[in-house]
Amino acid sequence: MSELLDRHRAVMPAWMPVYYGDDALEIVSGRGRHVTDATGRTYLDFFGGVLTTMIGYDVAEISDAVRSQVGTGVAHTSTLYLIRQQVELAEKIARLSGIPDARVFFTNSGTEANESALLMATNVRRSNQILAIKNSYHGRTFGTMAITGHRTWSSSSLSPFTVNWLASADRLRGRMARLSDADLIDAAVDDLREVLATVTAGDVAALIAEPIQGVGGFVAGPDGLLGAYRKVLGEHGILLIADEVQTGWGRTGDHFWGYQAHGVTPDLITFAKGIGNGYALGGVVGSAEVMNAVPAISFSTFGGNPVSAAAGNAVLDYVLDHDLQGNARRVGSILLDGLRALSHGIVGAVRGRGLMIGIEFVRPGTTEPDPAATLRVFDLCREGGLLVGKGGLYGNVLRIGPPLTLTEEEARDGLTVLSDAIATADAEAV
Ligand code: PLP
Repeated sequence: MSELLDRHRAVMPAWMPVYYGDDALEIVSGRGRHVTDATGRTYLDFFGGVLTTMIGYDVAEISDAVRSQVGTGVAHTSTLYLIRQQVELAEKIARLSGIPDARVFFTNSGTEANESALLMATNVRRSNQILAIKNSYHGRTFGTMAITGHRTWSSSSLSPFTVNWLASADRLRGRMARLSDADLIDAAVDDLREVLATVTAGDVAALIAEPIQGVGGFVAGPDGLLGAYRKVLGEHGILLIADEVQTGWGRTGDHFWGYQAHGVTPDLITFAKGIGNGYALGGVVGSAEVMNAVPAISFSTFGGNPVSAAAGNAVLDYVLDHDLQGNARRVGSILLDGLRALSHGIVGAVRGRGLMIGIEFVRPGTTEPDPAATLRVFDLCREGGLLVGKGGLYGNVLRIGPPLTLTEEEARDGLTVLSDAIATADAEAV
């Protein structure tokens, strides 16, 4: 155990998760898609921090933009003054959102973005009833934990909302298991209608959904699911909030936003993580009608500060100028095809889209989750010089969310490490 980990444990709360336990990593530098730890060992980062380092490490365009802002001597004064970088970024995001006459509000994180969206939705509809999806993750404050359908992270007993839950699109177990796309959409719509008719008072403010559930293990419903929900929501005047904290900015390859796979435009979109490439930045973009509906003046001291906004502008320009969405599609399909070609009993599912790929581990021949095998693969990957993420309701999903600049060669390198790790864990499991 390192001296820093000792000090970390002595001063941080016990509930803060750290990957690799007693062997926790201290990352001290990064370049491209690689990071180096305090011992001098270099790793290929297939998780991009936690989908935060979206462009990669040490990117000149991002560092220069931040340096140039810092060079003015003003890291931040207050959002009570005009901030050119913030207005420019808001204009770009409003244009890209697909929402007519859009407004943007910046925060420092995804949690705050979702809190803000809930604040606006509940006020415009004059209702504190929210619909959320089981197995979701939306953040770590009272409001967002209340709509997080994942026991490890949720705290619904302290909810400021009345929350009702829809089934997640889990294809392995539960009521959606093994349904065709069309049948799953029908079942999900029936579920929504039943929830509305039975356990709500009919005046629900909003449904919040991740187009692909992130922390939940990269679980995605079929294309068109949110559109099908939207038809029913529209009958009741219920708003749709898309939490694009993990799925936005082209990560899914086929689309710039995850919601675009569903033939629907949400009323509100929340974003964070990758847009700052590591600088703290999040926000909400939505229709003027909803975005203007906050009961009193509200602002964020640091949301959209000049340094984060400078980073955000540079990141967004980089994503568009280098067609990183196209790269996510191309390189993601190499990974997805390579992983799908593996044939091991412990692999229950390989799923995903673009550079957002999940591998679910089960006990061979069953759908019973196998978190131990997952952990083994996770540790073996690190031994092989590859960092990946973990997640899923049962801790049995490896998550791959590398920087969108990942090259084909790096994808193949990572695939080799992953394949070897999975083969070893599989052999040990029998
Ligand atoms: N929404 C989603 C989909 C997330 O994955 C996360 C974080 O993992 C959040 C919201 C919360 O974001 P933050 O940790 O920046 O508060």
